[in-house]
Amino acid sequence: MRIVAVSKRQPVAEIQAACDAGLIHFGENYVQEAVEKIPAIDSAAVWHFIGPVQSNKTRPIAEHFDWVHTVASERIAERLSAQRAERQADLNTCIQLRPANAGQRHGVDEPELPALAEKISALPGLRLRGLMIMPLPNLGEAATRAEFERANGLFEAMRNAGLAVDTLSMGMSADLEAAIMAGSTCIRVGTDLFGARK
Ligand SMILES: *Cc1c(COP(=O)(O)O)cnc(C)c1O
Repeated sequence: MRIVAVSKRQPVAEIQAACDAGLIHFGENYVQEAVEKIPAIDSAAVWHFIGPVQSNKTRPIAEHFDWVHTVASERIAERLSAQRAERQADLNTCIQLRPANAGQRHGVDEPELPALAEKISALPGLRLRGLMIMPLPNLGEAATRAEFERANGLFEAMRNAGLAVDTLSMGMSADLEAAIMAGSTCIRVGTDLFGARK
């Protein structure tokens, strides 16, 4: 189980302290905020972009992050691929699933998933690692669990299709137990680690 410490809106000193205490993986949602903090923190830290990816923000994401959990279109994947420098390791990439009944929220719907997964697998500079989902808040326990199980089923289908995926990114402070029970390999925890955000 990987723990991504979600450090959005946490100051550099708090993040460095978490790093000194042994946490390695950090998650950020806001590009501008992250690019200011990243150089100030121990270079052993591994940075995960977990916010919605806007097309005008792909370049700093490709430059500064090790992971992106929230790719939801071929256009964004192509931009990240083109902007990832050759001297850098491949950008670890997860596809974000749109939650059920979520209107226009960020993410791909199930029918679009296989083509996007194939696309990312074929793009230089990106390495497809798996899926991410963030259920709508306050769904209740049963519906939240159902969302995680749906994601796990799609993740298994990707593996069965021969994709070398190993990451199912799901679970935050409020729902991490349900996510782990449903097969999460990567929880993204902010509040439970750092306390309430400022
Ligand atoms: C903020 C955030 C988290 C962490 O939320 P907590 O409730 O503080 O644990 C996890 N994932 C994403 C995508 C987030 O935006």
